[in-house]
Amino acid sequence: MNFSWPKEYTDYRERVIEFAKKELNDDALIQRDHEGIFARDLWDKCGKFGIQGLGAPTRYGGSHEEVDILRAAYAMEGLGYGCKDVGLTIALNAHIWAVQMSITLFGTEEQKQKYLPKMASGEWIGAHALSEETSGSDVFNMKMTAEKVDGGYILNGEKRLVTLAPIADVAVAFANANPKVGKWGVTAFIVDKTMQGFECQPVQHKMGLRTVPLGRIKFNNCFVPEENRLGKEGAGFSISNHSLEYDRCCILAGKLGAMARQLDEAVAYAKSRQQYGQPIGNFQAVSHRIADMKLRLETSRLMLYKMAWLKKNDKPAMLEAAMLKLHLSEAYVASSLDAIRVHGGNGYLTDFGVERGLRDAVGGIIYAGTSDIQRNIIAKFLGL
Ligand SMILES: Cc1cc2nc3c(=O)[nH]c(=O)nc-3n(C[C@H](O)[C@H](O)[C@H](O)COP(=O)(O)OP(=O)(O)OC[C@H]3O[C@@H](n4cnc5c(N)ncnc54)[C@H](O)[C@@H]3O)c2cc1C
Repeated sequence: MNFSWPKEYTDYRERVIEFAKKELNDDALIQRDHEGIFARDLWDKCGKFGIQGLGAPTRYGGSHEEVDILRAAYAMEGLGYGCKDVGLTIALNAHIWAVQMSITLFGTEEQKQKYLPKMASGEWIGAHALSEETSGSDVFNMKMTAEKVDGGYILNGEKRLVTLAPIADVAVAFANANPKVGKWGVTAFIVDKTMQGFECQPVQHKMGLRTVPLGRIKFNNCFVPEENRLGKEGAGFSISNHSLEYDRCCILAGKLGAMARQLDEAVAYAKSRQQYGQPIGNFQAVSHRIADMKLRLETSRLMLYKMAWLKKNDKPAMLEAAMLKLHLSEAYVASSLDAIRVHGGNGYLTDFGVERGLRDAVGGIIYAGTSDIQRNIIAKFLGL
């Protein structure tokens, strides 16, 4: 077993960290969180650097010859470490892995040529439209329909809680083309802003991740030409499951980087903050709390690297994806609360920049399958 990374990967990750620290942490960081503003200019800078390009091969505008999930996960960890705007890193990962990667993996040649270059450069923003009002965890029990007509399909329905929906140029949207066969009728479509009846709704306000807009998309008698069906009719279930594995790997990698930054900040604070005439890090209650943060970080890291390795080697990783999602997202919440405790009253003050971590972390135990659903998957693998 070899735990070292190739120099090419470590060099790239260093460049990503340097770029993120220099270009993505602007003075408006706290204000954007306060007002719920998405930083389009920073998104575009990421596009120029090649971040969005990690999800497409160079022949379709991507940043490397082929998509390499190991390199991407490692780079995303670096991005999460360098960039203090967790909302932005979530936005990037949702766009790249749930949307762009679905097209990279399952798209026709024409679909790839039409959509990937615009998405890989950051010019177009993508959304993954799956959840509905009455189908969240039970997501494939959806109401949205795709009625087959001459030359294409008519989509009707409404998606909710969709990351980037209010500003999406394109969506990979799921609708049932044959409700009689239940989830086996669920079909994926590439729907874009040029199509009538594709209606992105305004931003919905939320607890955290305020710098990434989230909302509803209505499909109102939306005609989608046959050539925009992604994969075969009825393949939506497997397309979604497949791309979710990439999504989990890389969204979580960004969070892993954020956890590493959080740990560094907690250690520095514990060394510099004095109480009772000594640094608070001398008190075991504080140092053990930080030791627990380190343990959560390293266990999450090992699980993430294993998951990325499995995907790189085309091995099934559903169980590992569920365990990683459950462990890392819960670890991030626990460590974010610990970070606040270490910083005391300062940890509670918005301007200090620590409390935001907890608000941003909580979404992770809900989206892409709640922690309960991950436990269900793990239990099923154990024959329960
Ligand atoms: C920040 C954020 C971003 C999101 N981004 C997207 C996106 O880009 N695209 C998209 O399509 N969706 C997105 N979602 C939606 C997300 O995937 C759903 O919220 C999630 O799957 C849960 O569905 P629900 O909210 O309807 O909750 P419900 O399914 O109603 O669950 C409510 C509670 O019941 C529990 N529960 C339900 N069923 C079971 C069961 N069988 N066993 C045990 N417990 C169960 C759940 O764990 C939860 O505690 C996002 C959500 C958030 C918070």
